[in-house]
Amino acid sequence: MFRRFFSYYRPYKGLFLLDFGCAILVGLLELLFPVAVNQVIDQIMPQKNFQLVVWACIGLFVFYVINTALQYVVIFFGHKLGVNIETDMRRELFQHLQRQSFRYYDEQKTGSLISRLTTDLFEISEVAHHGPEDVFITIMTLIGSFILMYRAHAKLALATFALLPLITLALVFFNKKMTKVNLEIYETLGEFNSGVEASVSGIRVTQSFANEPFEASRFKGLSESYRRAKIRFYKVMAASSAYNYLLIRSISLFTLIFGAYYVIQGELTYGEFVFFILLSNVFVRPIEKVNNMIESYPKGFAGFKRLTEELDRNPEIMDKPDALVVESLQGDIHYDHVSFSYGTEEKRVLEDIDLAIAPGETVALVGQSGSGKTTLSNLLPRFYDVTKGRITIDGIDIRDMTLTSLRDQIGIVQQDVFLFPGTIRENIAYGRLDASEEEIQQAVRLAHLEGAVADMPQGLDTSIGERGVKLSGGQRQRVAIARMFLKNPPILILDEATSALDSETEQVIQESLNSLATGRTTLIIAHRLATIKYADRIIVVSPQGILEQGTHDELLASQGHYAELYRSQFR
Ligand code: ADP
Ligand code: MG
Repeated sequence: MFRRFFSYYRPYKGLFLLDFGCAILVGLLELLFPVAVNQVIDQIMPQKNFQLVVWACIGLFVFYVINTALQYVVIFFGHKLGVNIETDMRRELFQHLQRQSFRYYDEQKTGSLISRLTTDLFEISEVAHHGPEDVFITIMTLIGSFILMYRAHAKLALATFALLPLITLALVFFNKKMTKVNLEIYETLGEFNSGVEASVSGIRVTQSFANEPFEASRFKGLSESYRRAKIRFYKVMAASSAYNYLLIRSISLFTLIFGAYYVIQGELTYGEFVFFILLSNVFVRPIEKVNNMIESYPKGFAGFKRLTEELDRNPEIMDKPDALVVESLQGDIHYDHVSFSYGTEEKRVLEDIDLAIAPGETVALVGQSGSGKTTLSNLLPRFYDVTKGRITIDGIDIRDMTLTSLRDQIGIVQQDVFLFPGTIRENIAYGRLDASEEEIQQAVRLAHLEGAVADMPQGLDTSIGERGVKLSGGQRQRVAIARMFLKNPPILILDEATSALDSETEQVIQESLNSLATGRTTLIIAHRLATIKYADRIIVVSPQGILEQGTHDELLASQGHYAELYRSQFR
Protein backbone atom coordinates (compact mmCIF):
# COMPACT_ATOMS: atom_id res chain seq x y z
CA MET A 1 0.00 0.00 0.00
CA PHE A 2 2.82 2.42 0.84
CA ARG A 3 4.55 1.82 -2.46
CA ARG A 4 1.37 2.55 -4.25
CA PHE A 5 0.84 5.66 -2.18
CA PHE A 6 4.31 6.94 -2.95
CA SER A 7 3.85 6.37 -6.66
CA TYR A 8 1.61 9.46 -6.60
CA TYR A 9 4.63 11.58 -5.69
CA ARG A 10 6.33 10.79 -8.96
CA PRO A 11 5.19 13.87 -10.90
CA TYR A 12 6.18 16.13 -8.01
CA LYS A 13 9.75 15.10 -7.25
CA GLY A 14 10.98 18.71 -7.21
CA LEU A 15 8.25 19.92 -4.91
CA PHE A 16 8.78 16.96 -2.63
CA LEU A 17 12.53 17.49 -2.36
CA LEU A 18 12.07 21.19 -1.65
CA ASP A 19 9.52 20.51 1.07
CA PHE A 20 11.38 17.59 2.57
CA GLY A 21 14.76 19.32 2.49
CA CYS A 22 13.45 22.45 4.22
CA ALA A 23 11.60 20.35 6.79
CA ILE A 24 14.84 18.56 7.68
CA LEU A 25 16.65 21.88 8.06
CA VAL A 26 13.90 23.13 10.36
CA GLY A 27 14.27 20.01 12.46
CA LEU A 28 18.04 20.43 12.70
CA LEU A 29 17.82 24.12 13.60
CA GLU A 30 15.37 23.29 16.37
CA LEU A 31 17.99 21.01 17.86
CA LEU A 32 20.61 23.74 17.73
CA PHE A 33 18.65 26.13 19.90
CA PRO A 34 19.09 24.26 23.20
CA VAL A 35 22.79 23.85 22.41
CA ALA A 36 23.10 27.61 21.96
CA VAL A 37 21.28 28.37 25.20
CA ASN A 38 23.52 25.91 27.00
CA GLN A 39 26.54 27.81 25.66
CA VAL A 40 25.12 31.16 26.72
CA ILE A 41 24.47 30.01 30.27
CA ASP A 42 27.63 28.00 30.86
CA GLN A 43 30.22 29.89 28.75
CA ILE A 44 29.12 33.48 28.27
CA MET A 45 27.22 34.35 31.46
CA PRO A 46 30.11 33.45 33.84
CA GLN A 47 32.20 36.11 31.98
CA LYS A 48 29.67 38.74 33.18
CA ASN A 49 29.74 40.26 29.73
CA PHE A 50 26.23 41.38 28.86
CA GLN A 51 27.22 42.69 25.44
CA LEU A 52 28.24 39.22 24.41
CA VAL A 53 24.88 37.88 25.55
CA VAL A 54 23.15 40.50 23.38
CA TRP A 55 25.27 39.46 20.39
CA ALA A 56 24.44 35.84 21.02
CA CYS A 57 20.74 36.73 21.06
CA ILE A 58 21.05 38.67 17.82
CA GLY A 59 22.68 35.61 16.34
CA LEU A 60 19.77 33.53 17.58
CA PHE A 61 17.33 36.00 16.07
CA VAL A 62 18.90 35.67 12.63
CA PHE A 63 18.69 31.97 13.05
CA TYR A 64 14.98 32.27 13.88
CA VAL A 65 14.36 34.36 10.79
CA ILE A 66 15.95 31.68 8.64
CA ASN A 67 13.92 29.06 10.39
CA THR A 68 10.73 31.08 9.81
CA ALA A 69 11.45 31.32 6.09
CA LEU A 70 12.07 27.60 5.93
CA GLN A 71 8.83 26.90 7.74
CA TYR A 72 6.94 29.06 5.30
CA VAL A 73 8.31 26.99 2.46
CA VAL A 74 7.38 23.76 4.23
CA ILE A 75 3.84 24.83 5.02
CA PHE A 76 3.04 26.34 1.65
CA PHE A 77 4.83 24.01 -0.75
CA GLY A 78 4.14 20.97 1.38
CA HIS A 79 0.42 21.59 1.25
CA LYS A 80 0.63 22.36 -2.43
CA LEU A 81 2.23 18.97 -2.91
CA GLY A 82 -0.52 17.37 -0.86
CA VAL A 83 -3.38 18.98 -2.70
CA ASN A 84 -1.82 18.18 -6.08
CA ILE A 85 -1.72 14.53 -5.12
CA GLU A 86 -5.29 14.66 -3.84
CA THR A 87 -6.41 16.16 -7.15
CA ASP A 88 -4.57 13.51 -9.17
CA MET A 89 -6.16 10.72 -7.19
CA ARG A 90 -9.58 12.21 -7.62
CA ARG A 91 -9.11 12.64 -11.36
CA GLU A 92 -7.92 9.06 -11.70
CA LEU A 93 -10.93 7.81 -9.78
CA PHE A 94 -13.31 9.88 -11.86
CA GLN A 95 -11.94 8.51 -15.10
CA HIS A 96 -12.06 5.05 -13.67
CA LEU A 97 -15.70 5.40 -12.66
CA GLN A 98 -16.61 6.69 -16.09
CA ARG A 99 -15.45 3.44 -17.61
CA GLN A 100 -17.53 1.24 -15.34
CA SER A 101 -20.30 -0.75 -16.95
CA PHE A 102 -24.05 -0.33 -16.65
CA ARG A 103 -24.17 -3.38 -14.43
CA TYR A 104 -21.86 -1.63 -11.97
CA TYR A 105 -24.08 1.43 -11.85
CA ASP A 106 -27.15 -0.75 -11.47
CA GLU A 107 -25.71 -1.78 -8.11
CA GLN A 108 -24.25 1.51 -6.89
CA LYS A 109 -25.81 4.39 -5.06
CA THR A 110 -25.11 7.77 -6.55
CA GLY A 111 -24.47 9.43 -3.19
CA SER A 112 -21.90 6.82 -2.20
CA LEU A 113 -20.04 7.35 -5.44
CA ILE A 114 -20.07 11.09 -4.91
CA SER A 115 -18.64 10.56 -1.43
CA ARG A 116 -15.85 8.45 -2.84
CA LEU A 117 -14.97 11.26 -5.17
CA THR A 118 -15.21 14.05 -2.62
CA THR A 119 -15.08 13.52 1.15
CA ASP A 120 -13.15 10.24 1.02
CA LEU A 121 -10.13 12.06 -0.33
CA PHE A 122 -10.27 15.27 1.70
CA GLU A 123 -7.72 14.07 4.24
CA ILE A 124 -5.30 12.45 1.88
CA SER A 125 -3.60 15.74 1.01
CA GLU A 126 -2.67 16.26 4.66
CA VAL A 127 -1.18 12.79 4.80
CA ALA A 128 0.60 13.24 1.50
CA HIS A 129 2.13 16.44 2.77
CA HIS A 130 2.93 15.57 6.37
CA GLY A 131 3.35 11.83 6.08
CA PRO A 132 6.93 11.25 4.97
CA GLU A 133 8.09 14.50 6.50
CA ASP A 134 6.71 13.86 9.96
CA VAL A 135 7.94 10.32 10.16
CA PHE A 136 11.43 11.29 9.06
CA ILE A 137 11.69 14.36 11.25
CA THR A 138 10.34 12.58 14.29
CA ILE A 139 12.96 9.90 13.94
CA MET A 140 15.69 12.39 13.15
CA THR A 141 14.81 14.62 16.09
CA LEU A 142 14.67 11.72 18.48
CA ILE A 143 18.02 10.35 17.39
CA GLY A 144 19.58 13.81 17.25
CA SER A 145 18.42 14.86 20.69
CA PHE A 146 19.42 11.53 22.14
CA ILE A 147 22.95 11.91 20.81
CA LEU A 148 23.18 15.47 22.12
CA MET A 149 21.86 14.46 25.54
CA TYR A 150 23.96 11.37 25.70
CA ARG A 151 27.11 13.36 25.09
CA ALA A 152 26.15 15.84 27.81
CA HIS A 153 25.13 13.29 30.38
CA ALA A 154 24.59 9.65 29.49
CA LYS A 155 22.57 8.58 32.53
CA LEU A 156 20.16 11.50 32.36
CA ALA A 157 19.72 10.89 28.63
CA LEU A 158 18.73 7.29 29.29
CA ALA A 159 16.33 8.33 32.04
CA THR A 160 14.69 10.85 29.72
CA PHE A 161 14.23 8.27 27.01
CA ALA A 162 13.08 5.48 29.29
CA LEU A 163 9.39 6.01 28.65
CA LEU A 164 9.69 6.36 24.90
CA PRO A 165 8.77 2.78 23.95
CA LEU A 166 5.30 3.45 25.35
CA ILE A 167 4.75 5.92 22.51
CA THR A 168 5.31 3.21 19.93
CA LEU A 169 2.73 1.13 21.70
CA ALA A 170 0.22 3.96 21.43
CA LEU A 171 0.97 4.36 17.75
CA VAL A 172 0.27 0.77 16.91
CA PHE A 173 -2.79 0.44 19.13
CA PHE A 174 -4.58 3.67 18.33
CA ASN A 175 -3.70 3.66 14.66
CA LYS A 176 -5.52 0.39 14.15
CA LYS A 177 -8.58 1.58 16.01
CA MET A 178 -8.64 4.89 14.22
CA THR A 179 -8.45 3.31 10.77
CA LYS A 180 -11.43 1.17 11.66
CA VAL A 181 -13.60 4.01 12.92
CA ASN A 182 -12.64 6.16 9.98
CA LEU A 183 -13.71 3.50 7.51
CA GLU A 184 -17.01 3.43 9.38
CA ILE A 185 -17.32 7.18 9.07
CA TYR A 186 -16.72 7.08 5.34
CA GLU A 187 -19.19 4.27 4.88
CA THR A 188 -21.94 5.96 6.86
CA LEU A 189 -21.18 9.23 5.11
CA GLY A 190 -21.62 7.46 1.77
CA GLU A 191 -24.97 6.07 2.88
CA PHE A 192 -25.92 9.44 4.22
CA ASN A 193 -25.05 11.19 0.97
CA SER A 194 -26.96 8.73 -1.14
CA GLY A 195 -29.98 9.18 1.12
CA VAL A 196 -29.75 12.92 0.76
CA GLU A 197 -29.31 12.62 -2.98
CA ALA A 198 -32.44 10.49 -3.28
CA SER A 199 -34.49 12.77 -1.04
CA VAL A 200 -33.49 15.87 -2.88
CA SER A 201 -34.06 14.49 -6.36
CA GLY A 202 -37.30 12.88 -5.23
CA ILE A 203 -38.64 15.97 -3.49
CA ARG A 204 -41.48 16.39 -5.99
CA VAL A 205 -42.72 12.89 -5.32
CA THR A 206 -42.33 13.38 -1.57
CA GLN A 207 -44.40 16.54 -1.62
CA SER A 208 -47.07 15.06 -3.83
CA PHE A 209 -47.54 12.22 -1.35
CA ALA A 210 -47.12 14.64 1.56
CA ASN A 211 -44.49 12.25 2.88
CA GLU A 212 -42.21 14.89 4.36
CA PRO A 213 -42.38 13.43 7.89
CA PHE A 214 -41.42 10.02 6.57
CA GLU A 215 -38.46 11.48 4.67
CA ALA A 216 -37.48 13.48 7.73
CA SER A 217 -37.35 10.39 9.88
CA ARG A 218 -35.37 8.54 7.26
CA PHE A 219 -32.97 11.44 7.16
CA LYS A 220 -32.74 11.36 10.93
CA GLY A 221 -31.85 7.68 10.81
CA LEU A 222 -29.05 8.29 8.36
CA SER A 223 -27.60 11.25 10.23
CA GLU A 224 -27.83 9.20 13.40
CA SER A 225 -25.54 6.47 12.04
CA TYR A 226 -23.12 9.11 10.90
CA ARG A 227 -23.28 10.83 14.28
CA ARG A 228 -22.60 7.57 16.08
CA ALA A 229 -19.61 6.78 13.88
CA LYS A 230 -18.20 10.23 14.53
CA ILE A 231 -18.69 9.85 18.25
CA ARG A 232 -16.81 6.57 18.18
CA PHE A 233 -14.05 8.42 16.39
CA TYR A 234 -13.87 11.16 19.00
CA LYS A 235 -13.83 8.58 21.74
CA VAL A 236 -10.74 6.94 20.33
CA MET A 237 -9.24 10.33 19.63
CA ALA A 238 -9.80 11.52 23.18
CA ALA A 239 -8.27 8.36 24.60
CA SER A 240 -5.24 8.59 22.37
CA SER A 241 -4.82 12.26 23.13
CA ALA A 242 -5.07 11.71 26.88
CA TYR A 243 -2.64 8.83 26.81
CA ASN A 244 -0.07 10.82 24.89
CA TYR A 245 -0.46 13.88 27.05
CA LEU A 246 0.23 11.93 30.19
CA LEU A 247 3.17 10.23 28.60
CA ILE A 248 4.72 13.45 27.41
CA ARG A 249 4.32 15.13 30.79
CA SER A 250 5.80 12.11 32.49
CA ILE A 251 8.82 12.30 30.25
CA SER A 252 9.33 15.93 31.22
CA LEU A 253 8.99 15.03 34.88
CA PHE A 254 11.56 12.27 34.53
CA THR A 255 13.99 14.83 33.11
CA LEU A 256 13.20 17.24 35.92
CA ILE A 257 13.60 14.75 38.76
CA PHE A 258 16.71 13.04 37.47
CA GLY A 259 18.19 16.34 36.29
CA ALA A 260 17.66 17.97 39.67
CA TYR A 261 19.21 14.94 41.32
CA TYR A 262 22.35 15.12 39.19
CA VAL A 263 22.61 18.89 39.69
CA ILE A 264 22.44 18.40 43.45
CA GLN A 265 25.05 15.68 43.15
CA GLY A 266 27.21 18.18 41.29
CA GLU A 267 27.35 16.01 38.17
CA LEU A 268 25.44 18.50 36.02
CA THR A 269 25.81 22.25 35.50
CA TYR A 270 22.79 24.53 35.51
CA GLY A 271 23.41 25.25 31.86
CA GLU A 272 23.29 21.58 31.07
CA PHE A 273 20.17 21.21 33.17
CA VAL A 274 18.37 23.94 31.20
CA PHE A 275 19.75 22.38 28.02
CA PHE A 276 18.15 19.07 28.97
CA ILE A 277 14.83 20.67 29.81
CA LEU A 278 14.80 22.56 26.53
CA LEU A 279 15.88 19.57 24.51
CA SER A 280 13.30 17.36 26.08
CA ASN A 281 10.77 19.95 24.91
CA VAL A 282 12.16 19.79 21.41
CA PHE A 283 11.98 16.06 21.20
CA VAL A 284 8.60 15.95 22.84
CA ARG A 285 7.21 18.10 20.05
CA PRO A 286 7.46 15.39 17.39
CA ILE A 287 5.88 13.05 19.88
CA GLU A 288 3.01 15.46 20.12
CA LYS A 289 2.94 15.27 16.37
CA VAL A 290 2.53 11.55 16.68
CA ASN A 291 -0.74 12.45 18.29
CA ASN A 292 -1.82 14.37 15.22
CA MET A 293 -0.63 11.51 13.07
CA ILE A 294 -2.85 9.15 14.97
CA GLU A 295 -5.73 11.46 14.19
CA SER A 296 -5.16 12.38 10.57
CA TYR A 297 -3.28 9.46 9.02
CA PRO A 298 -5.93 6.85 9.57
CA LYS A 299 -8.43 9.30 8.10
CA GLY A 300 -6.31 9.76 5.02
CA PHE A 301 -5.45 6.12 4.68
CA ALA A 302 -9.01 4.95 5.17
CA GLY A 303 -9.92 7.15 2.21
CA PHE A 304 -6.93 5.86 0.28
CA LYS A 305 -7.97 2.30 1.01
CA ARG A 306 -11.42 2.95 -0.39
CA LEU A 307 -9.80 4.57 -3.41
CA THR A 308 -7.54 1.63 -4.19
CA GLU A 309 -10.38 -0.83 -3.65
CA GLU A 310 -12.29 0.99 -6.32
CA LEU A 311 -9.38 1.42 -8.70
CA ASP A 312 -8.56 -2.27 -8.51
CA ARG A 313 -11.92 -3.24 -9.91
CA ASN A 314 -11.55 -3.62 -13.65
CA PRO A 315 -14.50 -2.40 -15.66
CA GLU A 316 -16.55 -5.39 -16.67
CA ILE A 317 -16.74 -4.20 -20.25
CA MET A 318 -13.44 -3.06 -21.71
CA ASP A 319 -11.63 -2.85 -25.00
CA LYS A 320 -9.67 -5.90 -25.99
CA PRO A 321 -5.96 -5.14 -26.32
CA ASP A 322 -6.12 -5.32 -30.13
CA ALA A 323 -9.63 -3.91 -30.55
CA LEU A 324 -10.59 -2.49 -33.93
CA VAL A 325 -11.47 1.12 -34.51
CA VAL A 326 -14.51 0.98 -36.75
CA GLU A 327 -15.73 3.86 -38.85
CA SER A 328 -18.88 4.47 -40.88
CA LEU A 329 -20.44 1.05 -40.41
CA GLN A 330 -23.15 -0.02 -42.85
CA GLY A 331 -25.36 -1.25 -40.07
CA ASP A 332 -25.61 -4.90 -41.06
CA ILE A 333 -26.59 -6.33 -37.69
CA HIS A 334 -26.69 -9.99 -36.64
CA TYR A 335 -27.79 -11.32 -33.31
CA ASP A 336 -26.32 -14.79 -33.46
CA HIS A 337 -28.03 -17.14 -30.97
CA VAL A 338 -27.87 -14.53 -28.27
CA SER A 339 -28.87 -15.34 -24.72
CA PHE A 340 -28.66 -12.94 -21.84
CA SER A 341 -29.32 -12.79 -18.12
CA TYR A 342 -28.75 -9.91 -15.73
CA GLY A 343 -27.85 -12.07 -12.79
CA THR A 344 -28.02 -15.79 -12.35
CA GLU A 345 -27.71 -17.97 -15.40
CA GLU A 346 -31.10 -19.61 -14.93
CA LYS A 347 -33.11 -16.42 -15.06
CA ARG A 348 -32.67 -15.60 -18.72
CA VAL A 349 -34.15 -12.39 -20.02
CA LEU A 350 -33.28 -13.29 -23.61
CA GLU A 351 -33.15 -16.82 -24.91
CA ASP A 352 -31.44 -17.81 -28.12
CA ILE A 353 -32.26 -14.71 -30.17
CA ASP A 354 -31.39 -15.09 -33.83
CA LEU A 355 -31.97 -11.89 -35.70
CA ALA A 356 -30.57 -10.25 -38.79
CA ILE A 357 -31.17 -6.62 -39.67
CA ALA A 358 -30.13 -5.37 -43.10
CA PRO A 359 -28.37 -2.02 -43.60
CA GLY A 360 -30.94 0.77 -43.76
CA GLU A 361 -33.77 -1.46 -42.60
CA THR A 362 -36.28 -0.30 -40.01
CA VAL A 363 -37.18 -3.07 -37.64
CA ALA A 364 -39.74 -2.78 -34.88
CA LEU A 365 -39.62 -4.81 -31.70
CA VAL A 366 -42.91 -5.42 -29.99
CA GLY A 367 -43.84 -7.55 -27.04
CA GLN A 368 -45.22 -7.28 -23.59
CA SER A 369 -43.67 -4.99 -21.07
CA GLY A 370 -40.76 -6.82 -19.49
CA SER A 371 -40.29 -9.10 -22.48
CA GLY A 372 -36.72 -7.89 -22.98
CA LYS A 373 -36.96 -5.32 -25.77
CA THR A 374 -34.84 -2.71 -24.02
CA THR A 375 -32.42 -5.39 -22.94
CA LEU A 376 -32.07 -6.59 -26.51
CA SER A 377 -31.27 -3.08 -27.74
CA ASN A 378 -28.86 -2.42 -24.85
CA LEU A 379 -26.67 -5.30 -25.99
CA LEU A 380 -25.86 -3.57 -29.25
CA PRO A 381 -23.77 -0.68 -27.82
CA ARG A 382 -22.40 -3.19 -25.27
CA PHE A 383 -24.03 -1.59 -22.27
CA TYR A 384 -24.15 -5.23 -21.25
CA ASP A 385 -22.34 -8.12 -22.88
CA VAL A 386 -24.19 -11.16 -24.15
CA THR A 387 -24.16 -14.17 -21.87
CA LYS A 388 -24.11 -16.56 -24.83
CA GLY A 389 -23.83 -16.19 -28.59
CA ARG A 390 -22.55 -13.08 -30.29
CA ILE A 391 -23.58 -9.91 -32.04
CA THR A 392 -21.89 -8.74 -35.21
CA ILE A 393 -22.14 -5.52 -37.17
CA ASP A 394 -20.91 -5.68 -40.76
CA GLY A 395 -19.58 -9.12 -39.92
CA ILE A 396 -17.39 -7.97 -37.02
CA ASP A 397 -18.08 -9.16 -33.49
CA ILE A 398 -18.87 -6.03 -31.50
CA ARG A 399 -16.54 -7.25 -28.75
CA ASP A 400 -13.66 -6.89 -31.21
CA MET A 401 -14.37 -3.20 -31.73
CA THR A 402 -13.25 -0.41 -29.45
CA LEU A 403 -16.10 0.71 -27.24
CA THR A 404 -15.75 4.32 -28.31
CA SER A 405 -15.85 3.63 -32.02
CA LEU A 406 -18.75 1.21 -31.63
CA ARG A 407 -20.78 3.67 -29.58
CA ASP A 408 -20.02 6.46 -32.00
CA GLN A 409 -21.97 4.48 -34.57
CA ILE A 410 -25.11 3.98 -32.51
CA GLY A 411 -27.65 6.54 -31.38
CA ILE A 412 -30.29 5.87 -28.75
CA VAL A 413 -33.38 7.93 -28.04
CA GLN A 414 -35.23 6.73 -24.99
CA GLN A 415 -38.49 7.43 -23.29
CA ASP A 416 -36.97 9.12 -20.27
CA VAL A 417 -34.57 11.64 -21.73
CA PHE A 418 -31.76 12.73 -19.48
CA LEU A 419 -30.73 16.34 -19.94
CA PHE A 420 -27.85 18.03 -18.18
CA PRO A 421 -28.34 21.22 -16.22
CA GLY A 422 -27.40 24.06 -18.54
CA THR A 423 -28.86 25.56 -21.67
CA ILE A 424 -30.75 23.99 -24.56
CA ARG A 425 -27.80 24.73 -26.78
CA GLU A 426 -25.39 22.91 -24.52
CA ASN A 427 -27.67 19.90 -24.35
CA ILE A 428 -28.05 19.71 -28.10
CA ALA A 429 -24.34 20.18 -28.67
CA TYR A 430 -23.76 17.18 -26.40
CA GLY A 431 -24.52 15.13 -29.51
CA ARG A 432 -21.33 16.39 -31.12
CA LEU A 433 -19.22 18.67 -29.00
CA ASP A 434 -17.53 20.40 -31.92
CA ALA A 435 -20.75 21.17 -33.81
CA SER A 436 -20.94 24.59 -35.47
CA GLU A 437 -23.70 27.11 -34.88
CA GLU A 438 -25.24 26.28 -38.27
CA GLU A 439 -25.27 22.58 -37.52
CA ILE A 440 -26.99 23.23 -34.22
CA GLN A 441 -29.58 25.44 -35.92
CA GLN A 442 -30.18 22.75 -38.49
CA ALA A 443 -30.60 20.09 -35.81
CA VAL A 444 -33.15 22.35 -34.11
CA ARG A 445 -35.08 22.65 -37.38
CA LEU A 446 -34.97 18.93 -38.12
CA ALA A 447 -36.22 18.13 -34.62
CA HIS A 448 -39.12 20.60 -35.02
CA LEU A 449 -37.87 22.53 -32.07
CA GLU A 450 -37.74 25.95 -33.73
CA GLY A 451 -41.13 27.16 -32.51
CA ALA A 452 -40.52 26.12 -28.93
CA VAL A 453 -37.10 27.72 -28.88
CA ALA A 454 -38.42 30.97 -30.33
CA ASP A 455 -40.93 31.20 -27.48
CA MET A 456 -38.28 30.89 -24.81
CA PRO A 457 -36.89 33.95 -23.03
CA GLN A 458 -33.31 33.45 -24.16
CA GLY A 459 -33.88 31.17 -27.11
CA LEU A 460 -31.27 28.45 -27.34
CA ASP A 461 -29.47 29.91 -24.36
CA THR A 462 -32.38 29.39 -22.03
CA SER A 463 -31.38 27.39 -19.04
CA ILE A 464 -33.54 24.30 -18.66
CA GLY A 465 -33.10 23.45 -14.98
CA GLU A 466 -31.92 20.20 -13.52
CA ARG A 467 -32.75 17.27 -15.81
CA GLY A 468 -34.65 19.75 -17.96
CA VAL A 469 -37.49 20.36 -15.49
CA LYS A 470 -38.31 23.65 -17.17
CA LEU A 471 -39.21 21.91 -20.43
CA SER A 472 -42.28 19.92 -21.31
CA GLY A 473 -41.96 16.20 -21.98
CA GLY A 474 -42.31 16.79 -25.72
CA GLN A 475 -39.67 19.52 -25.69
CA ARG A 476 -37.24 17.33 -23.79
CA GLN A 477 -37.86 14.58 -26.30
CA ARG A 478 -37.15 16.93 -29.20
CA VAL A 479 -33.93 18.16 -27.59
CA ALA A 480 -32.88 14.51 -27.47
CA ILE A 481 -33.77 14.10 -31.13
CA ALA A 482 -31.88 17.24 -32.11
CA ARG A 483 -28.90 15.89 -30.20
CA MET A 484 -29.17 12.71 -32.25
CA PHE A 485 -29.31 14.61 -35.57
CA LEU A 486 -25.98 16.14 -34.62
CA LYS A 487 -24.47 12.82 -33.71
CA ASN A 488 -25.71 11.42 -37.01
CA PRO A 489 -25.05 7.71 -36.35
CA PRO A 490 -25.64 5.04 -39.00
CA ILE A 491 -27.49 2.89 -36.47
CA LEU A 492 -30.42 4.18 -34.47
CA ILE A 493 -32.37 2.78 -31.55
CA LEU A 494 -35.67 4.39 -30.63
CA ASP A 495 -36.80 2.91 -27.33
CA GLU A 496 -40.38 3.97 -26.61
CA ALA A 497 -39.28 7.40 -27.74
CA THR A 498 -42.81 8.71 -28.03
CA SER A 499 -44.56 6.78 -25.28
CA ALA A 500 -44.63 9.61 -22.78
CA LEU A 501 -46.29 12.06 -25.14
CA ASP A 502 -49.85 13.00 -25.89
CA SER A 503 -51.02 12.11 -29.36
CA GLU A 504 -50.72 15.63 -30.73
CA THR A 505 -47.07 16.08 -29.75
CA GLU A 506 -46.47 12.53 -30.70
CA GLN A 507 -47.37 13.27 -34.27
CA VAL A 508 -44.90 16.14 -34.52
CA ILE A 509 -42.19 14.06 -32.92
CA GLN A 510 -43.03 11.07 -35.05
CA GLU A 511 -42.28 13.21 -38.06
CA SER A 512 -38.88 14.21 -36.71
CA LEU A 513 -38.16 10.63 -35.78
CA ASN A 514 -39.07 9.44 -39.24
CA SER A 515 -36.70 11.91 -40.80
CA LEU A 516 -34.05 10.89 -38.26
CA ALA A 517 -34.51 7.24 -39.19
CA THR A 518 -34.18 7.75 -42.93
CA GLY A 519 -31.04 6.18 -44.29
CA ARG A 520 -30.13 4.53 -41.01
CA THR A 521 -30.48 1.02 -39.72
CA THR A 522 -33.19 1.54 -37.15
CA LEU A 523 -34.50 -0.48 -34.26
CA ILE A 524 -37.82 0.86 -33.01
CA ILE A 525 -39.32 -0.26 -29.76
CA ALA A 526 -42.85 0.93 -29.37
CA HIS A 527 -45.66 0.20 -27.10
CA ARG A 528 -48.24 1.82 -29.32
CA LEU A 529 -48.48 -0.24 -32.45
CA ALA A 530 -49.78 2.65 -34.57
CA THR A 531 -46.28 4.11 -34.57
CA ILE A 532 -44.64 1.04 -36.06
CA LYS A 533 -47.09 -0.01 -38.72
CA TYR A 534 -44.76 1.18 -41.44
CA ALA A 535 -41.64 -0.55 -40.24
CA ASP A 536 -40.01 -2.82 -42.81
CA ARG A 537 -40.34 -5.68 -40.40
CA ILE A 538 -42.00 -6.27 -37.07
CA ILE A 539 -40.58 -8.73 -34.58
CA VAL A 540 -42.54 -10.07 -31.64
CA VAL A 541 -40.25 -10.94 -28.74
CA SER A 542 -40.86 -12.77 -25.50
CA PRO A 543 -38.55 -14.20 -22.84
CA GLN A 544 -38.77 -17.48 -24.74
CA GLY A 545 -37.28 -15.90 -27.85
CA ILE A 546 -38.68 -14.46 -31.06
CA LEU A 547 -42.29 -15.49 -31.47
CA GLU A 548 -42.96 -14.26 -34.99
CA GLN A 549 -41.82 -11.73 -37.53
CA GLY A 550 -42.98 -10.13 -40.76
CA THR A 551 -44.60 -6.95 -42.05
CA HIS A 552 -47.66 -5.51 -40.40
CA ASP A 553 -49.94 -6.97 -43.02
CA GLU A 554 -48.32 -10.40 -42.99
CA LEU A 555 -48.54 -10.62 -39.24
CA LEU A 556 -52.16 -9.53 -39.16
CA ALA A 557 -52.99 -12.12 -41.77
CA SER A 558 -51.27 -14.91 -39.85
CA GLN A 559 -53.58 -14.29 -36.86
CA GLY A 560 -50.85 -14.83 -34.28
CA HIS A 561 -49.57 -12.90 -31.25
CA TYR A 562 -49.19 -9.65 -33.15
CA ALA A 563 -52.71 -9.79 -34.48
CA GLU A 564 -53.93 -10.31 -30.95
CA LEU A 565 -51.87 -7.44 -29.58
CA TYR A 566 -53.09 -5.23 -32.37
CA ARG A 567 -56.70 -6.06 -31.83
CA SER A 568 -56.40 -5.35 -28.10
CA GLN A 569 -55.20 -1.83 -28.92
CA PHE A 570 -57.62 -1.04 -31.79
CA ARG A 571 -60.85 -2.70 -31.00
P1 ADP B 1 -38.96 -4.28 -21.98
O1 ADP B 1 -38.11 -3.21 -22.48
O2 ADP B 1 -39.39 -5.26 -23.01
O3 ADP B 1 -40.17 -3.77 -21.23
P2 ADP B 1 -36.72 -4.91 -20.35
O4 ADP B 1 -35.70 -5.32 -21.32
O5 ADP B 1 -36.60 -3.54 -19.79
O6 ADP B 1 -38.17 -5.15 -20.92
O7 ADP B 1 -36.70 -5.92 -19.13
C1 ADP B 1 -36.71 -7.31 -19.31
C2 ADP B 1 -36.54 -7.98 -17.95
O8 ADP B 1 -35.27 -7.72 -17.41
C3 ADP B 1 -37.53 -7.51 -16.91
O9 ADP B 1 -38.01 -8.64 -16.23
C4 ADP B 1 -36.75 -6.64 -15.99
O10 ADP B 1 -37.20 -6.77 -14.68
C5 ADP B 1 -35.35 -7.16 -16.14
N1 ADP B 1 -34.35 -6.09 -16.06
C6 ADP B 1 -34.32 -4.98 -16.82
N2 ADP B 1 -33.25 -4.22 -16.54
C7 ADP B 1 -32.59 -4.85 -15.55
C8 ADP B 1 -31.40 -4.56 -14.82
N3 ADP B 1 -30.67 -3.48 -15.05
N4 ADP B 1 -31.01 -5.45 -13.88
C9 ADP B 1 -31.73 -6.56 -13.65
N5 ADP B 1 -32.84 -6.89 -14.29
C10 ADP B 1 -33.30 -6.05 -15.25
MG1 MG C 1 -38.25 -1.17 -22.31
